[in-house]
Amino acid sequence: MSLAHDQLAAHKGAAPNDLEAFWLPFTANRAFKKNPRMITGAKDMHYIAADGRKVMDGAAGLWCCNAGHNRDPIVAAIRAQAGELDYAPAFQFGHPKAFALAARIAALAPGDLDHVFFANSGSEAVDTALKIALAYWNIQGKGSRTRLIGRERGYHGVGFGGISVGGIVNNRKFFGSLLAGADHLPHTYSREQQAFSRGEPEWGAHLADDLERIVALHDASTIAAVIVEPMAGSTGVLAPPKGYLRRLREICDKHGILLVFDEVITGFGRLGFAFAAERYGVVPDMITFAKGVNSGTVPMGGVVVRKGIYEAFMKGPEHVIELFHGYTYSAHPLACAAGLAALDVYRDEGLFERARQLEGAWADAIHSLKGLPNVLDIRTIGIVGAVDLAPKPDAVGKRAYEAMDVAFREHDLMIRITGDTIALSPPLILREDDIGEIADKLAKVIKAVA
Ligand code: PMP
Repeated sequence: MSLAHDQLAAHKGAAPNDLEAFWLPFTANRAFKKNPRMITGAKDMHYIAADGRKVMDGAAGLWCCNAGHNRDPIVAAIRAQAGELDYAPAFQFGHPKAFALAARIAALAPGDLDHVFFANSGSEAVDTALKIALAYWNIQGKGSRTRLIGRERGYHGVGFGGISVGGIVNNRKFFGSLLAGADHLPHTYSREQQAFSRGEPEWGAHLADDLERIVALHDASTIAAVIVEPMAGSTGVLAPPKGYLRRLREICDKHGILLVFDEVITGFGRLGFAFAAERYGVVPDMITFAKGVNSGTVPMGGVVVRKGIYEAFMKGPEHVIELFHGYTYSAHPLACAAGLAALDVYRDEGLFERARQLEGAWADAIHSLKGLPNVLDIRTIGIVGAVDLAPKPDAVGKRAYEAMDVAFREHDLMIRITGDTIALSPPLILREDDIGEIADKLAKVIKAVA
């Protein structure tokens, strides 16, 4: 005899609203559960807190709700899709919206990046790209190209591939020896050289030359791919120095190394273009995406690859599987329907162009916080901002954590924090008065935690 759900919950000592069972990711669970920051609704630029307050979303959720929240066309598309085709496998079968969305994404991608492999998150997108790189060399008889090069302070999700090429020590040190053969370029941030920069800092393009050192150390014939975020988001908004990405492309070309841009954050308008690759005029061999592809509504990620990579796989006998990789939910119908609707919103409302037009006003507003107590640096690029706060002498990162908490509870503003940095990335539907409101609220928050 099976117990009804509530009976079972009571049996295990849990009330229906108990907070204990859910283990929150990347969260101090015990502190959270004593005083949760609970969200129960959202619309456009705002979240609704459990106590009914409208909270300005300064973070687009987690850098993902680029079209704002609960947008009618996206909600309608998801509803309609759920009633029409709830799920279909993408192994050996297809559904029309998967092909339609792949074509739309390919059309937005630069150069000859024109084939799309779907996954369900940024982490899966990264692992997929790394595996495609390894398999690409393998099938061409260059199986010695196995090394994967990431960057210090890089964030590429939490799969074993992503943390191996990633460069955040806390995401790595607990998890064993990781992928063999990963190496790292230096990060590109220097407060001395770049403080209070707007857009791409002037200093730092030469840091790309470190790839030559890695090539000299390991030999190009052992290196499969280099993966970088065009703008490193999760480690504090580090914009690429002017010319840096172009230089990386040149060195990769010289040594026949694949270049992957991880555009999980920068994709779909965050820097004013469909992809940051376009902003920088650099065409990588693969682009990973997630988050903004459907404005964060249904889990989805993926990789866009160059024609030549796809074609390299399409050479064997026609009835043989070309790539032994994929996910049960690859190209999930709900995610695809949401993606098509989100891309329509981006196009119809001109949200990428709008991000370009607002970049100056955004930068002015966020840089106006310079001079407030404990502000060590401010960086802006596209519709992204970062404010570094001095750590409290006794507890690393605590001031930024307090800022996040005070912002949510007392100033109706949601911000992201990473270490001592406050990161901002509001939905791209924001207006000039929203920009002013975010900056005003943040100024109050920074003073409150001084
Ligand atoms: N790559 C980058 C550049 C990211 O910013 C993120 C998430 N912030 C990821 C990968 C991982 O995405 P997910 O959390 O969807 O797995």
